[in-house]
Amino acid sequence: MRAEIVAVGTELLLGQNLDTNTAFIAERLAAAGIDCTLQVSVGDNVKRIADALRLALARADAVVCTGGLGPTQDDVTREAIALVAGVALRRDAAVLALVEEIFRRRGRTMSPSNARQGDVPQGATVIPPRLGTAPGLICPVGPRVVYALPGVPEEMREMVERAVVPDLVARAGERAVIASRVLRTWGLGESAVAERLAPRVDALEAAGPDAATIAFLASGMEGIKVRVTVKAADAATAAAALDEEERALRALLGDLVFGVDEETMEHAVASELLAAGWTLGVAESYTGGLVGARLVGEPGASRWFAGGVVTYGAGTKQHVLGLDPGPVVSASAAAAMAAAVREVIGADVGLATTGVAGPDPDEGLAPGTCFAGIALPGRAAEGLALSLAGTRERIREIGTISTLDRLRRALVGARTAGGGAQDPAGAASSSR
Ligand code: ATP
Ligand code: MG
Repeated sequence: MRAEIVAVGTELLLGQNLDTNTAFIAERLAAAGIDCTLQVSVGDNVKRIADALRLALARADAVVCTGGLGPTQDDVTREAIALVAGVALRRDAAVLALVEEIFRRRGRTMSPSNARQGDVPQGATVIPPRLGTAPGLICPVGPRVVYALPGVPEEMREMVERAVVPDLVARAGERAVIASRVLRTWGLGESAVAERLAPRVDALEAAGPDAATIAFLASGMEGIKVRVTVKAADAATAAAALDEEERALRALLGDLVFGVDEETMEHAVASELLAAGWTLGVAESYTGGLVGARLVGEPGASRWFAGGVVTYGAGTKQHVLGLDPGPVVSASAAAAMAAAVREVIGADVGLATTGVAGPDPDEGLAPGTCFAGIALPGRAAEGLALSLAGTRERIREIGTISTLDRLRRALVGARTAGGGAQDPAGAASSSR
């Protein structure tokens, strides 16, 4: 069963209103196992709506329309459907009575223009309104079907749940669920992540059209997302299929994966610290507090975040952290800052940032030359090079998440192999 969505409303084309109705309908279709293959917006114009419907009906089994069912002259979805179905539009006395009754119950008188809401294309079934005054419609067009729903989001949502999804599922004749899961990665670019997963993607493609599908989404400051989508008979089977796929992908991605779905990098850091029973202290230079701010954004941070200092000037690094005079943008300076902040804050783990955010070079080093310092209990503190690019703002933001990622990997390494902090791959210069 293939469906398309047609959102009606000139305001959508003008960019005045965001088309959130389509997103909702698409999400409900996916949950019901109905494939949605195209979504379009069209203005309040009978001919153009009819054209959009004809095209959609040539490709899909079902078309879900939203908008254009109101009482005004520019609400012409009913007319367009009748045109495409080749049937008459007639005023249905029972539907009109229903609309009148809604007005009466609300203590309002119905204006004559509302009578248009009683117009029904011949052969259509009416979805009685519960929240508004506009009836929805289920209109057969040969073996296919067009659903017409109000544009008002809450009215539309209520009818999708009550009438459209059950009708579509009954027509599809099979019960299915489409479910997705997102694995969030940090440390490699989109094409490198795709290359890692190529064996799995190839295997799934060879397995045929019902196999899981994998999509890559580059999301800037949120890293590269890998989205797995499966279709199954019910929710439990879909969840099991997602679990299996997640295992296969994690085997190829290793510790590039820092979270699932909405999980953030700081959440991953928090989980590792809680598992180890360690607290964290932070000394920041070029990130100026961004690392601390992200960490504190995680609910319950007081259980593991001891605190931080912004030691921006070289003199401050000496006074507060006891660094030796000399260059402060280096791996050894980052390591010294991390070791010192553990003591200053009284935390189990020390984390530090030092680098050149730009736009001008500093200490003879180019903007983007940055280091993360990590000091874990029972280990020598280490400094890791991050080579970053972009504007001052971007360097500071990417540097913040990259530093948190290095800490996460060091903590994972310490937990799993007992040697993660010395892991040569982890200590190599950054890939970003
Ligand atoms: P109804 O059939 O309920 O009268 P309509 O399209 O005929 O809907 P409009 O006045 O055009 O009536 O829209 C009603 C409200 O719904 C407006 O606030 C509009 O912004 C909103 N709306 C319409 N279409 C969408 C959409 N695709 N996504 C989000 N909001 C929408
Ligand atoms: Mg409208």
